Amino acid sequence: MTVEELKNKVLQNISITQTEAEWLATQPDKEALYEAAHEITMARASQEFDMCSIINAKSGRCSENCKWCAQSAHYQTKADIYDLVDKEECLRHAQHNESQGVARFSLVTSGRKPSGKNMQKLCEAAQYMRQKSSIQLCASLGLLNEEELRALRAAGITRYHCNLETAPSYFPTLCSTHTQEEKLRTLAAARRAGMDICCGGIIGMGESAMQRIEFAFTLKNLEVPSIPLNLLQPIPGTPLENQASLTEEEVLTTIALFRFINPTAYLRFAGGRSQLSKDGVRKSLYIGVNSAIVGDLLTTLGSKVSEDKVLIEEAGYRFSDSQFDREHLWHPYTSTTNPLPVYKVKRGDGATITLESGQTLIEGMSSWWCMVHGYNHPALNQAAQEQITKMSHVMFGGLTHDPAIELGKLLLPLIPPSMQKIFYADSGSVAVEVAMKMAVQYWYAQSQSSSSEAHLAGKRNFITIRHGYHGDTWNAMSVCDPVTGMHSLFGDALPVRYFVPSPRSRFGGEWNAEDAQHLRNAVKEHHEEIAALILEPIVQGAGGMWFYHPQYLREAARICEEYNILLIFDEIATGFGRTGKLFAWEHAGVEPDIMCTGKSLTGGYMTLSAVLTTNKVADTISCYPPEAFMHGPTFMGNPLACAVACASIRLLTSPEYNWKEKVGRIETQLNRELSPARNLPQVADVRVLGAIGVVEVRNPVNMAWMQRRFVEEGIWVRPFGKLVYIMPPFIIEPEQLTKLTTGLLKIIEEIQ
Ligand SMILES: *Cc1c(COP(=O)(O)O)cnc(C)c1O
Repeated sequence: MTVEELKNKVLQNISITQTEAEWLATQPDKEALYEAAHEITMARASQEFDMCSIINAKSGRCSENCKWCAQSAHYQTKADIYDLVDKEECLRHAQHNESQGVARFSLVTSGRKPSGKNMQKLCEAAQYMRQKSSIQLCASLGLLNEEELRALRAAGITRYHCNLETAPSYFPTLCSTHTQEEKLRTLAAARRAGMDICCGGIIGMGESAMQRIEFAFTLKNLEVPSIPLNLLQPIPGTPLENQASLTEEEVLTTIALFRFINPTAYLRFAGGRSQLSKDGVRKSLYIGVNSAIVGDLLTTLGSKVSEDKVLIEEAGYRFSDSQFDREHLWHPYTSTTNPLPVYKVKRGDGATITLESGQTLIEGMSSWWCMVHGYNHPALNQAAQEQITKMSHVMFGGLTHDPAIELGKLLLPLIPPSMQKIFYADSGSVAVEVAMKMAVQYWYAQSQSSSSEAHLAGKRNFITIRHGYHGDTWNAMSVCDPVTGMHSLFGDALPVRYFVPSPRSRFGGEWNAEDAQHLRNAVKEHHEEIAALILEPIVQGAGGMWFYHPQYLREAARICEEYNILLIFDEIATGFGRTGKLFAWEHAGVEPDIMCTGKSLTGGYMTLSAVLTTNKVADTISCYPPEAFMHGPTFMGNPLACAVACASIRLLTSPEYNWKEKVGRIETQLNRELSPARNLPQVADVRVLGAIGVVEVRNPVNMAWMQRRFVEEGIWVRPFGKLVYIMPPFIIEPEQLTKLTTGLLKIIEEIQ
């Protein structure tokens, strides 16, 4: 056994054993141990230093007899005694800390737990602070039950702190008024109430070095993300008043071992660090302390925030804007009180993005389908720069311009020959809204053509297949899968659409004629109310990442024709080559009446979408009152976006670029490199089509964990539910793609 070997184990995400940790503790070469722990910190822990602060909201007169504590009523100490501070005082401290860049603020009270009245006051204080400040709130209020913790969570407190204090084998010698089991029950209840936990302890209370290791493993088994480490400050009047302090070497060794055992946790400097020399503090930061409680520390004075910051920055940690982001910016499908971590991107180049930390990730998502040519492409950059010197925007009502005309000319030869009219819109969801409005207005116009057609005005509803995704605006939402579409909570507020089961015949598999029967039956019954069938051709994206048989589209087109229903294809994700055809309709040879494109239309540079339709639909709408299509976004036909879209399409269709060869190569490589995943017990299915690779696992993934592991592997993949999937930029190099698939499989294998 060598320090090097154990370090490599941890770097490869394998835990060391207690015996191995004990062996490490006895190694004479301390510098080697510190250096190894430092490497683990650099590779596995956050480099973004996390600062929190606390207010001692009620001090002294504690019923418990913890031998180290100044606040126990069992001992005579000089600690302050006061009752609950008021909410204004809490707010003042919170705002001060927020202005210093402190990420979290904790309400701490002495005592076994607050009285009912005080609990209520604390909840009010938390709510009050959430009204006037956005600092994240923590609490440390003793041994609470789940109901009390739920009340705190509802008041805006997102993390609960309860120290186990020391090793299970040592705790009973220090405290007889409560047990660690009671603490564990509180922590478990906090997790059930939806809170994070923070749990650490005090070292130097007379425990042995082996007991410190035992303690570190206890925390590891609890999967504690934040571990405050205090050095005992012997308090005159307490039983530990004469406890000799640990040597600096003992402290540093403990930090190193905690890092080996808890490689990804925040190891948090808490009380007593003023006992260390300045050099000792520096070394602690170097070895593995990557967070701290700053400002006033309970009854013993900590250091000033600004002084701490200097040391921390000298140690190479960063303070980023992520706190502002967490406090004020809402991310997609994300909580504001308990957001998943976000990574700050500094720049993108080709198939990579570079994080603020300097780490470079291979891009597996093309930023949700759109960055097909990768980041920072010279041709697209140039198009944007040239257009910006002419005009970024001009209204499209009554005016037109070259970029819009040019883009139309480039699009027409690529889309189904029957598509002759182009309506530019602002985003995918808006394109879907526009398409649906077009369909309704088409039948409204038809109904005016003769008195015998008046009933056609009743064709205002839509039919679609399950597992679809069409965007997040109101009508787009109404045709998303009611379950996987993430919109079920809107319930009755949404228009009610007809849903039929999606085809189960796989792309590339056998066609099962039963598949189209549901659609036929539903259309037969309801066609008089139905304006259009909307679906994603061949590839269902965010609603399930499912590839279905082209025959379904042929049958669907036949049914629509038979029953006088328009057919809308949503090619927002599938368009511009992603599935191996330029557009997915080509797999079936079926032309729709209306088609939506978006996402990669501008090579991902800007938001722009285009709704395409036939002369028949457009002319009919224009023939009857109001003789115009009733839609007109402010940013319609935005010249800057159109100019970049032109550059993107020119690039895509240029012979040298050869998108077909690029997508074909990615497809072959994805097939080869993802296939082995079929043998993993975690995996239910693997499917590949064009430049899309999907690994469906058996159980919904833990997003926070998986995201972090992917980043650690140097790849950017954002799974959802049971779907881990990639759709890389077309310009990805084979070696980059191999790194992506290898990392993907490695992390899937780690799923427990
Ligand atoms: C992404 C997507 C949309 C919505 O596009 P936004 O630009 O996000 O509004 C609609 N349909 C499909 C198939 C999509 O993949």
